[in-house]
Amino acid sequence: MAKVLCVLYDDPKDGYPTSYARDDIPTIESYPGGQTARLPDADVVISQPFWPAYITAERMAKAPNLKLAITAGIGSDHVDLDAATKHGLTVAEVTYSNSISVAEHVVMMILGLVRNYLPSHQVVLDGGWDVADCVSRSYDLEGMHVGTLAAGRIGLAVLHRLAPFDVKLHYTDRHRLPESIERELNLTFHPDTASTVPHCDVVTVNAPLHPETEGLLGDELLATMKRGTYLINTARAKIADRDAIDRALRSGRLAGYAGDVWYPQPAPADHPWRTMPHHGMTPHISGSSLSAQTRYAAGTREILESWLAGTPIRDEYLIVDGGRLAGAGAHSYSTR
Ligand code: NDP
Repeated sequence: MAKVLCVLYDDPKDGYPTSYARDDIPTIESYPGGQTARLPDADVVISQPFWPAYITAERMAKAPNLKLAITAGIGSDHVDLDAATKHGLTVAEVTYSNSISVAEHVVMMILGLVRNYLPSHQVVLDGGWDVADCVSRSYDLEGMHVGTLAAGRIGLAVLHRLAPFDVKLHYTDRHRLPESIERELNLTFHPDTASTVPHCDVVTVNAPLHPETEGLLGDELLATMKRGTYLINTARAKIADRDAIDRALRSGRLAGYAGDVWYPQPAPADHPWRTMPHHGMTPHISGSSLSAQTRYAAGTREILESWLAGTPIRDEYLIVDGGRLAGAGAHSYSTR
């Protein structure tokens, strides 16, 4: 019998809802590209990026039975992938389950920052009508240059969703998109992050956290951005230098920063990103809408059932297997 450890986040403060805002959840039969939407004595750990169980090398060493780490969602950087390859651990995540959920959140955050939505909403909550104050930091997105750092599932979905706003779209990625997509969306490709950001008014980060991306958004890169750039990071907090972001908002290099990823998670009450100016942070929720939860729960079950039955886990779910990066992991991650 296998022992499965599930690492969850806290229950809602007032208990589980007895009714929901809607009666059903839209059914997604398949993802773009044809992938179907089916779905320290533990053998299996199931955890979520939203409240991650950091599965470090030390923890692996204390869990000799551990064979499988399932991420209920996307983004397995809370597992030390280097150590996982050495321990022969299989790491799998539910690829595509919440990519569109995050893309929608990114678009919301871009509009929220550029239009100065949150401070204006606060004026309403405070009983005011300070129109001039609300609009003193409000612009149109139309005509701006928007760039994504990585154009995988989320990055490309963001580009698709932004195209109708009549913006100029830029991207960088380790692999260039097909020419037909570049033409359809009128994309400008740049070979790396450093050559992308100076062109952009809005930058959205959609790359996984791995050795190539850790600490990428530091003082040096921020200094090359236009004054008043908006930066949206729903990928992983450690892609950014925490204090450099705070400094860039205070100096005006950044006009706004938004995202939902923090380090560590849960973020401590005194985390500077809670109080820095012009931010639109949320807790880590973009990939955990009820719609997304339905899909990644089904995917988690599918991975677990495959493993228990001894049948192969779908390649697109695999991050590490057989002592090496595998499947989706071999494409998007790197180890040290
Ligand atoms: P994908 O694997 O589809 O896309 C990631 C893309 O990043 C790939 O195209 C990859 O390139 C590219 N990439 C990797 N390293 C670099 C680099 N050094 N420079 C430029 N591009 C790079 O993943 P998703 O789009 O589904 O998700 C992206 C990330 O978003 C996840 O890893 C996770 O961290 C985060 N995420 C956050 C969620 C949230 O709730 N906030 C939910 C889901 C995901 P290539 O493969 O071409 O080599």
